[in-house]
Amino acid sequence: MLKEFYPYEYARNVFAIDYKKLAQMGYTGLIFDVDNTLVHHGDDSTPKVDSFFAWLHKLGFKTILLSDNEKSRVERFNKNIRTQYICDAGKPDPKGFLKAVELLGEPKDKVVCIGDQIVTDIKGANNAGLASILVHFIRLPGEKHIGKRRYIEYFVMWTWKHRRKYRHRLGDILRSGK
Ligand SMILES: [Mg+2]
Repeated sequence: MLKEFYPYEYARNVFAIDYKKLAQMGYTGLIFDVDNTLVHHGDDSTPKVDSFFAWLHKLGFKTILLSDNEKSRVERFNKNIRTQYICDAGKPDPKGFLKAVELLGEPKDKVVCIGDQIVTDIKGANNAGLASILVHFIRLPGEKHIGKRRYIEYFVMWTWKHRRKYRHRLGDILRSGK
């Protein structure tokens, strides 16, 4: 029952993923959540994130942002990145995910979704039949309060860690020391 919440992999953050390896494995499309995945909720992009996307595009990846947030927020974030995006995505409805695959123009089995929430990003990716990587949500230094959902996520990931069949389904794609 919990398997619809299981990601293919878990990474500390978006920079801890070995994208070169993903490219070597034949992956060509990346779907990114925005808030608490790439920047803290509501924040603008940073030069680091802008150049991260430029680097991904140089590696040959096509990218798209898939966000439940509104258009003005996503456009503000995307100002320098200038990739495709879908706002008000209605995650975990698989429709938005499948629309993202269509806009990427890549086969479904060559696309990976990356996000910080199990109940929206990962569940939606699973329901759409897509590979997914859960990243630890971005938390500001000193930010103490975390929502109820996060405790559910901790529980789900605790069970995931004990279910070998569902772990590391993309192989060895984590960068060490990052
Ligand atoms: Mg998020």
